[in-house]
Amino acid sequence: MISLLHRACPGGRNDWPANHDATHNFSAFPPRSAGASPTGTFPLRSSAPFCSNICFFSCLTAALRAFAPSRLRVKTFLPLTLLTVLAFAPSARAADFMIQADVGDRHVEGRPTHWSADRVQMMLRDGQFLDFPTAEARNFRRTSDRFRPYSAGELRTKLFAEFGPGFDVTGTGHYLVVHPKGQKDRWASRFEDLYRSFVHYFSVRGLRIKEPEFPLVAVVWGNKQQFFNYAATHGVNIGGNTVGYYSPATNRVHLYDATAGQSGANWQHNADTIIHEVTHQTAFNTGVHTRFAGCPRWLAEGLGTLFEARGIHSSREFPNRTDRINRQRLTDYRRLFPKEVDPAYLGELISSDRAFDRDISKAYALSWALTFYLVETQPRRYAEYLALTAARQPGEPYPEAKRLADFTKIFGDNFSMLAARLSRFMVDVK
Ligand SMILES: [Zn+2]
Repeated sequence: MISLLHRACPGGRNDWPANHDATHNFSAFPPRSAGASPTGTFPLRSSAPFCSNICFFSCLTAALRAFAPSRLRVKTFLPLTLLTVLAFAPSARAADFMIQADVGDRHVEGRPTHWSADRVQMMLRDGQFLDFPTAEARNFRRTSDRFRPYSAGELRTKLFAEFGPGFDVTGTGHYLVVHPKGQKDRWASRFEDLYRSFVHYFSVRGLRIKEPEFPLVAVVWGNKQQFFNYAATHGVNIGGNTVGYYSPATNRVHLYDATAGQSGANWQHNADTIIHEVTHQTAFNTGVHTRFAGCPRWLAEGLGTLFEARGIHSSREFPNRTDRINRQRLTDYRRLFPKEVDPAYLGELISSDRAFDRDISKAYALSWALTFYLVETQPRRYAEYLALTAARQPGEPYPEAKRLADFTKIFGDNFSMLAARLSRFMVDVK
């Protein structure tokens, strides 16, 4: 069976706890989802547990680890097999050349990233990640000595073919936005504007931002039904209130027009979703996070929620500190942390993702508060910490001890003091 190691990071409003304000809450993720393929033509790992984006990265990281060099056995003696093609590479990891193959009913081309006698993992030319049994590939051949991602023009043509005549594809520099025909003005520039704001925000804070390797794809569905049909067909089980998600496996954002095409109607509903998901997509494509070596969940969701505030995503228009405060997260934080933050809980949030499994609202509230505190008071260290976590190799394990060591290397190891300072800082956030 072919597995796509796909998990979605749903943003927008998912299955909120009843006591949450239904206008601003990104925190409650649906509890379960399934594996999926980028195109729906592959069998799915339907029993896979739902993961939001960072759990996905953990899953993906685990998959990559399964291809550790000591366990690789490339069978060069087998004639006419995919492995014969791959065996020309000096190592069984991260080749730079491209191969073409028919896998299931898909014709794919890309860079083999890991392979063994049993499975092959490929980065496709459009930025999607594919994992499949070696034996299921047919008609394979080596097509180039160098990996070449699709240009925006090439990918645009592919997207037209994939989504059909009801959709247009508009290019906006870094983005290719698939949207209902005739709605170019409604969608095209919004993604690119957010991308630019993100890059600006980090550039002025001294963080090196890489150009994305692939054109960034966002798919806007015309209505909720289309969006949910697509997710269901592709094995993504999202909660009934989900408005959008970012999938690290496909590297795409999907969302739907929550205003149902009516101008001015509830636009904020779409805007909030775009901001959160584009933040994830941009962070994982510009080197702020790494897509294939795990990323502390508090760090990714802290950044996603940080950017929800207009003083962050539109800092030139809203330069005041008060605009940088995410009001909904602040409300959650005050409710869920009425007293001082527990240093042990803080340490656990930093060293593992368990807090998200136990109480997701609480974990989100503290992720935002900690991120806001660090960027407001120690921006250079925060940038150093982001760079440190992003510098790890694909598939490199990120055990709790290492996560803790990376954090303490930058911010020190006195969690009692950190919790006390964070709590005091938050008292003054108004
Ligand atoms: Zn998120």
